[in-house]
Amino acid sequence: MELTERQRRIVEIVRDNGPITGEHIADQLMLTRATLRPDLTILSMSGVLEARPRVGYSYREKRKQSPLAERMALLRVGDFKSVAAVVRDTASIYDAIVSLFTHNVGSLSIVNTDNMLTGIVSRKDLLKATLGKTDLHEVPVSVIMTRMPNIIVTRPDETVLEAVTKLVRHQVDALPVVEGFVDESGNEVFEVVGRFTKTIVAKLFAEIADPNF
Ligand code: ADP
Repeated sequence: MELTERQRRIVEIVRDNGPITGEHIADQLMLTRATLRPDLTILSMSGVLEARPRVGYSYREKRKQSPLAERMALLRVGDFKSVAAVVRDTASIYDAIVSLFTHNVGSLSIVNTDNMLTGIVSRKDLLKATLGKTDLHEVPVSVIMTRMPNIIVTRPDETVLEAVTKLVRHQVDALPVVEGFVDESGNEVFEVVGRFTKTIVAKLFAEIADPNF
């Protein structure tokens, strides 16, 4: 597995100081534990580090690589993503529900006039809206969506292992696959180019287990 610069530094720290807690690794790198969590998950899942509750992380001298994690770290999101399911933020909640059915998906990416990602709505967000007194034909979907910057995204060149880690860690069913751009104000904005979902991971899992699947 190709390690990032930060992952390499984490491995060095654990090799020299392990067993060491995530907290202490974060201290040495002057980062927060939350920032390091995805790296530590990836390093543990791929077998570079061993994580033990209440003990911390140790370096695996004789590495027992999980073959599944190894495969997933070689595959790229861009090769497995499905088509984007996108709705304008001005669309009504009613129209978003119709789109959920026409696209046959469990969540929709919401975009602005420039086609850039502003939020995401899941089937449960939409179901919740139908329980109240909200006028589904009048209220725009942007009122109930989970909005930027709280959207967890992935990119075509990210590894499947990284994307799977995000799905699990953030307990969501889908990630918008995005290309990042910088707008006139210097902010990073995201164009939605696809979706990466738990269904794709399940299919991949079946394919890895049985190449004739
Ligand atoms: P459901 O709500 O139908 O179980 P999810 O588990 O995907 O579907 O969504 C749970 C919550 O997280 C919803 O409120 C949804 O708006 C939000 N959500 C879904 N996907 C993402 C994502 N990629 N980034 C941030 N929030 C998300």
